[in-house]
Amino acid sequence: MYGAKLMKYIVLVPDGMADEPIEQLGGKTPLEVAETPNMDYCVANGLLARARTIPSNLAPASDVANLSILGYDPHKYYTGRAPLEAAYLGVDLGGDELAFRCNLVTISDEKMADYSAGHISSKEAAILIAELNKELGSASVSFYPGVSYRHLVVLKGGQNMQDLLQAICSPPHDILGQPIKKFLPKGKGTEQLASLMERSKSVLAPHEINKVRIDLKENPANMIWLWGQGQKPAMPTFKEKFGLTGAVISAVDLIKGIGKIIGLDVINVEGATGYYDTNYTGKAQAALDALKNRDFVFVHVEATDEAGHNGDLRMKIATIERFDKMIVGPVLEEFKGRSDFRLLIMPDHATPVDLRRHTADEICVAMMGYGIAKNGFSAFSEKEAKKSDVFFEGHQLMDVFLR
Ligand SMILES: [Zn+2]
Repeated sequence: MYGAKLMKYIVLVPDGMADEPIEQLGGKTPLEVAETPNMDYCVANGLLARARTIPSNLAPASDVANLSILGYDPHKYYTGRAPLEAAYLGVDLGGDELAFRCNLVTISDEKMADYSAGHISSKEAAILIAELNKELGSASVSFYPGVSYRHLVVLKGGQNMQDLLQAICSPPHDILGQPIKKFLPKGKGTEQLASLMERSKSVLAPHEINKVRIDLKENPANMIWLWGQGQKPAMPTFKEKFGLTGAVISAVDLIKGIGKIIGLDVINVEGATGYYDTNYTGKAQAALDALKNRDFVFVHVEATDEAGHNGDLRMKIATIERFDKMIVGPVLEEFKGRSDFRLLIMPDHATPVDLRRHTADEICVAMMGYGIAKNGFSAFSEKEAKKSDVFFEGHQLMDVFLR
């Protein structure tokens, strides 16, 4: 049996928060240096553990990691990132279709200068995506606009389907500063993908929006980058699996898409941007509101991950502190001293600022609330967690948390 009657279950995920010891910080991690009284309180009054959210043979990405956290074994359910985002965008994939994540990126000297085209606004991006659809779209190729730099291309696979599914496509945030030629899609039948990417340059580069962006010294969206492909996944709902009602709160389509596919309510919070300036307080309030008539809430904050990708140490520490103060704080404020809740805090994966990409390292987990015994730690950090003898296989953790 999962979920005792009237219990509330809260999961808080600071994306990519985990890091590595940094020389500049005297060998400490950003999480160790950041002021995090609320997360430390959870550890002191609960359990500190380790978890592996990225199973062997899978790339360390937020889709895989968040499926794990939600209790879905990625080896069983993961088909690719784009179909999860497609679900959120309301794009229903047919059996012969596959979705690709389509980033708007900035290329400079044929190198990947920016995976986000300067975090281009959704409004500007929608115009560019419409233009791409007009110029490059066809009966078998469709562009769909998403949020900021994150968009979607749906291809009718035809005979090529299996080859395209197997194609090796590099996430653009993993190849920053590198020559793009080395990382164009590889494998049988991928000429079509490389050609779409190549042709996007001549549609995007001369576009008025990019001229203005360059004038404003913003990174232009001068190419598309296709990756993360997959077919529509088949997953049981959260209710079917755990018998609980719940909601997901996030700024990013991927997490909202996962929520939608597993039947959680997707709650949109005004000012939730997926970036440093996200509306932290609004998310915390939305989580508390969501729990009034639901058993479970999953709150995802992207800002910590973006700071890692940008190699911005100061901002990484700042976003961790904001997460602690403005997300964890209000939740504790509401539930501290009560016995009808459980709280789980864990990054989905590490995004070390020195590496500027995700790693598959074990991550730290804090859990407190009804029936969770203390295991003697007092601070939430990667190093402390290494000393903990409690270890979870990522997708099995939800099971323990809800029982
Ligand atoms: Zn990331």
